[in-house]
Amino acid sequence: MKPAKAKMPRKPVIKKGSQSNLKDPVGVYCRVRPLSFPDQECCVEVVNSTTVQLHTPEGYRLNRNGDYKETQYSFKRVFGIHTTQKELFDVVASPLVDDLIHGKNGLLFTYGVTGSGKTHTMTGSPGYGGLLPRCLNMIFNSIGSFQAKRYVFKSNDRNSMEIQCEVDALLERQKREAMPVPKTPSNKRQADPEFADMINVQEFCKAEEIDEDSVYGVFVSYIEIYNNYIYDLLEEVQLDPIKPKLPQSKILREDKNHNMYVAGCTEVEVKSTEEAFEVFWRGQKKRRIANTHLNRESSRSHSVFSIKLVQAPLDADGDNVLQEKEQITISQLSLVDLAGSERTNRTKAEGNRLREAGNINQSLMTLRTCMEVLRENQTYGTNKMVPYRDSKLTHLFKNYFDGEGKVRMIVCVNPKAEDYEESLQVLRFAEVTQEVEVARPVDKAICGLTPGRRYRNLPRGGPVGDEPLVTEVILQSFPPLPPSKLLDINDEETLPKLIEALEKRHHLRQLMTEELNKQCMNFKALLKEFDSSLLNKENYIQEKLNEKEKLISGQKSEIERLEKKNKTLEYKIEVLEKTTTIYEEDKRNLQQELESQNQKLQRQFSDKRRLEARLQGMVTETSMKWQKECERRVAATQLEMQNKLWVKDEKLKQLKAIVTEPKPEKPERPSRERDRERILPRSVSPSPVPLSSNNIAQISTGQQLMSQPQLHRRSNSCSSISVASCISEWEQKLSPFSTPVNVTSLARHRQQEPGQSKTCIVSDRRRGMYWTEGREMVPTFNSEIGVEEDRCRRGDVYKTRGGGQSVQFTDIETLKQESPTGVPLLLR
Ligand code: ADP
Ligand code: MG
Repeated sequence: MKPAKAKMPRKPVIKKGSQSNLKDPVGVYCRVRPLSFPDQECCVEVVNSTTVQLHTPEGYRLNRNGDYKETQYSFKRVFGIHTTQKELFDVVASPLVDDLIHGKNGLLFTYGVTGSGKTHTMTGSPGYGGLLPRCLNMIFNSIGSFQAKRYVFKSNDRNSMEIQCEVDALLERQKREAMPVPKTPSNKRQADPEFADMINVQEFCKAEEIDEDSVYGVFVSYIEIYNNYIYDLLEEVQLDPIKPKLPQSKILREDKNHNMYVAGCTEVEVKSTEEAFEVFWRGQKKRRIANTHLNRESSRSHSVFSIKLVQAPLDADGDNVLQEKEQITISQLSLVDLAGSERTNRTKAEGNRLREAGNINQSLMTLRTCMEVLRENQTYGTNKMVPYRDSKLTHLFKNYFDGEGKVRMIVCVNPKAEDYEESLQVLRFAEVTQEVEVARPVDKAICGLTPGRRYRNLPRGGPVGDEPLVTEVILQSFPPLPPSKLLDINDEETLPKLIEALEKRHHLRQLMTEELNKQCMNFKALLKEFDSSLLNKENYIQEKLNEKEKLISGQKSEIERLEKKNKTLEYKIEVLEKTTTIYEEDKRNLQQELESQNQKLQRQFSDKRRLEARLQGMVTETSMKWQKECERRVAATQLEMQNKLWVKDEKLKQLKAIVTEPKPEKPERPSRERDRERILPRSVSPSPVPLSSNNIAQISTGQQLMSQPQLHRRSNSCSSISVASCISEWEQKLSPFSTPVNVTSLARHRQQEPGQSKTCIVSDRRRGMYWTEGREMVPTFNSEIGVEEDRCRRGDVYKTRGGGQSVQFTDIETLKQESPTGVPLLLR
């Protein structure tokens, strides 16, 4: 039972008639390696020599909940697990070496996931030499005796070769041997058993039909593409153990024939398989060291080992190489061991490595894309650009796909179930690749027109060229004519001999005519074939033309449709632009409005701030006012209490004085004097001295007035008494002077009445808080210090319920005046 292939339906491939014989598809081969352990689950099966089958492993199905699927893939040839390295080489690589020797380029690469056997196939394992040592072996087996002397060919920087005569080559050799050899680890020749095991190729293999009229030179180069950088693995770098140099990457260049090459890459001329493989091994070691030092993973890089075969014709003598650069033929075989094709997540790469893996996958992705585009272009006649330049790998091998050369790919598959998904991708890519066609390399007549060893034994002197030489050869092959002169009538030999010779010639001529006819027939047949092929070609071209016309008409209608669409879109754009203008206008207006509102808000805000500050000030002021008021009231209450006490004391004193006052026995004096006497003993002054008018003047101007401190005033504070009682009591004693006056009138009054104490009520509204409603004048006299004190009581007047007024004394002010002459003064 053969299950159906799970393939995407594809459009029919257009056959290209006679063109098909000019191009070859990429040869894709598949190699399935044996399982590492016999009990491993397997998902790949070799169906026959050209088909391989992949089936979904059980674990994968369970994990993904998928169906069981079997897919078959066909290749040019499938190699099973028992395939030997020799078998593989014979089928895949040996034709490439054959081509190389015949001046044709070749590219062979191994593709697959890590561990699928790419390196095993390309390089080999100990005891199982791979394709690379076998190729080298075949090359040297074939050209062994026709090799040019070392340094006859010299590689230059422009991907071409110089040629020099053997003497110059010898001189150069001597010069190089005299040079000191740089100390590199590769120069230490180590007997590596692995190395020996790999080149020990027992089977003898040789190319056929070697052009013996040429000399050959073999040059090898070995590069690594890592992280999309190219490194030369054969570069001789001076080893500095203290500061090891980081490898320098190389760039790609295009030579004059538009071939890509690695600029400045080392090309080593080798003369034997051992030498060539040793150079390869040297590079391999360097690669391993770099990987270890830079913590890189070898499976993440692509390695390219190139074998360049240079051949040049011998000169006419067949002794020396022809010193003509144009006659040199260079062919190249590149053996590429690609990096593991697995996707990044499979490698569990992190950080730097992730980037590397990303790049590697990028290179392989580019390779895939290139193949796909090439296939598409070739199948559907499109002309899409192939993205060779997207990665160094594809850019380097651009010429193989674009130009001519044989390309072969070995897809390595590890049949273990864990690799199922990756193997699926690999096989799909391989199928795509084999649909890509590459131009078949033209057979090059390497030395066809150059006389060399082939004509060494022919007589010299004839014109050098093709046609005269051929005529000469043909004439020489004709039997020579005997002498035809008849000297004797009885000569019976000459004529028969001549006849015989002529008959022979005639026969030969007939044979040649036949041959010619045959050739003509052949040529005609060929011409016919050519005609038919031309016809085919014409038909093909016609078909193509029709196709193109269809395509063009399709494109025209598409263009028309697009133009219509374009117009509609333009109209829409116009409408949208208008709408945008309107909206923008609206936006501007709104913005302006917003700005004005903002300004208004700010103004209001600052007004509010100011108001707040003002209110705050008012609050503080009021609270201070009230605080003072409270303090004042507390003080007033205190004073009231003290006043009460003082009034009581005073009353007691007065009572005492009234009680103890002696009755006047003298004749009555004028009332003024009497009153003075009555008052003075109650006053503090014991012996009043009449004031001079001068002193009074001094007081009235207030030049020496001093206010007493608060403490003093408090000690003399007056108590609260009712206005009625106070006035009545004092009016009884001080009736002649008890008329209310203001401060100025009082002063004037005192001037008129020195030494008299007065009771009056003074109102002074200008003092605000301090306005005084009642005042009592008590003159004092202190003769000891020469100071006269005058006490002034202050009080508040309240209206009583009964309609009268009451005074509450709140303070006493004591004014002192020192007498400049020591004479006591009477203050106001
Ligand atoms: P890759 O280069 O693809 O990562 P390798 O070539 O290094 O894989 O192979 C991994 C291992 O598998 C090596 O030890 C190799 O010897 C072994 N191996 C690969 N292919 C085969 C084969 N066809 N026969 C025997 N052993 C193989
Ligand atoms: Mg490998």
